[in-house]
Amino acid sequence: MVVQTERDDSTWWECEDCGLLFDEKTDASDHETHCDGSEPSYIQ
Ligand SMILES: [Zn+2]
Repeated sequence: MVVQTERDDSTWWECEDCGLLFDEKTDASDHETHCDGSEPSYIQ
């Protein structure tokens, strides 16, 4: 899933599966479609 986040006074969109950040929600959504999330960069 894609979540909105604030970094350096800018709005970013983060792929929750792998933690990648995008400056466009459409880019994040497109990435998420292809992201298998099999290698998370962190564990909550
Ligand atoms: Zn991802």
